[in-house]
Amino acid sequence: MLLIKNGRVLDPASKLDATRDILVDGEIISEIADPGKTKAAREAEIFDAAGLIIAPGFIDMHVHLREPGQESSESIETGTRAAARGGFTAVCCMPNTKPVNDNASVTRFIMDRAKSAGSVRVWPIGAASIGSKGENIAEIAAMQRAGIVAVSDDGNPIATAKLARQVMDYCRSLDLTVIEHAEDVSLAQGAVMREGVTSTRLGLRGMPAAAESVCVARDVQLVELTGARLHIAHLSARGSLELVRWAKQRGLKVSCEVTPHHFTLIDEDVEYDSRFKMNPPLAGREDRDALIAGLADGTVDAIATDHAPHEPALKDVEFDRAPFGILGFETALGLALELVHSGRIALMRMVELFTMGPARVLRMERKIVAGGIADLTIFSTENEWTYNVKDSASKSRNSPFDGRKFKGGPAATIVGGRVIYKR
Ligand SMILES: [Zn+2]
Repeated sequence: MLLIKNGRVLDPASKLDATRDILVDGEIISEIADPGKTKAAREAEIFDAAGLIIAPGFIDMHVHLREPGQESSESIETGTRAAARGGFTAVCCMPNTKPVNDNASVTRFIMDRAKSAGSVRVWPIGAASIGSKGENIAEIAAMQRAGIVAVSDDGNPIATAKLARQVMDYCRSLDLTVIEHAEDVSLAQGAVMREGVTSTRLGLRGMPAAAESVCVARDVQLVELTGARLHIAHLSARGSLELVRWAKQRGLKVSCEVTPHHFTLIDEDVEYDSRFKMNPPLAGREDRDALIAGLADGTVDAIATDHAPHEPALKDVEFDRAPFGILGFETALGLALELVHSGRIALMRMVELFTMGPARVLRMERKIVAGGIADLTIFSTENEWTYNVKDSASKSRNSPFDGRKFKGGPAATIVGGRVIYKR
């Protein structure tokens, strides 16, 4: 038995914001009561959460764990340990591994590795097309039986409108969400950052914001045609957000996520440093401000990190040649709390973006309730700390936030009643 005492419980699903004791018995929350009022046995292990927030377990619905195939950059073991240190209790891993997760045997391999080596829950996302090549639809139903929670060709968009329609039609019948890496490849080709004044000044090839929003527009029209459920990954452009807002107003099942780096940094931060190179690239200031407004007003459904480790040998090269992507797990909550401290989003809303929001996209529930699974994220809003990437649990070091000072961050991560990380 584990007794978590005197924490401020924040649960958007039940709209609870109050000081409570939570009693955990095995994997299950057995009781939620006023402080000192649970029927905890005397031998229960005590976790003093006074001054801390207790939230439902955070979900990161967009991550790259690099296993199988690229274990020199990350593995399921190291990636999920970094996730636990970031306060995440569950992560959804994208299928662009080697081999691609486009069939049930790769899905089962990932699930088995996660069970034996993983710190947190791993929910695989299956490829939409075979090899994510954009030609033929993947074995989606077989992967769903093996455990995938959504489909995506992430790393690439679903290549054509015809294939996207086919995938949406099929996923609608399976009640699976289609996750789109929205990019018009013809507009983005060869680009290494966002097109604008900064790309011109740096002499780097840029992609316009429309490289993303053109694809979002295509997909929203296809949702209208198919009735499918569509989720836009790592949305970065104001135009894309306006299309999502429009789709929601029409009652279409369209959702989206925003990454911490896109709501924190802008293209002006780039300066030839490959740690600032990701896809979609850092956007302009107006885009960033629009994303923050979307996080606050409910247009954005989830904060997802797009954790994308690359070993130094690959990433520490000139800007043009470096691969896209940065680490995300260990700084996500600290960066989200910056928006809370500056008054741009409410604390309860922030918790929703890490819990109930992504759960809803994945057709799940995330709630602190007696009888429910004890997946909990405990965090501070006040503790001051500095992120040193050399101490990361990840195998890679590609973070633009190395040395950043944070106010508040993860204090403990509990998965199935077990404390898997404690600061
Ligand atoms: Zn992507």
